[in-house]
Amino acid sequence: MNERLKNLFNVEKFEIKNYMEKMVIKNLESQIEKRDDICKCERCLLDIIAYALNHLPAKYVVTDKGSIYTRLEELEVQLNADITREVFKAIELVKKNKRHE
Ligand SMILES: [Zn+2]
Repeated sequence: MNERLKNLFNVEKFEIKNYMEKMVIKNLESQIEKRDDICKCERCLLDIIAYALNHLPAKYVVTDKGSIYTRLEELEVQLNADITREVFKAIELVKKNKRHE
């Protein structure tokens, strides 16, 4: 592969990110806040995030490195019901199939 293309994920100024990751984490945060029946260790939280992300569409955006996402609130409102549902399903699944002792 062309060197320039290969290094695009590593350029200084810009970055490409899946904005869905950020929305899932935010949603997860608000859902687990109210629950004390689930394990909140890093492994379980990552399992929950992976499951939810595999069931939601990726939403890639290009931003100036380090800058805050802007103008995506509309997208967030649109997708919020889907995200809440998938995160909830993920929490229940990981609760029943914990990957550690
Ligand atoms: Zn755990």
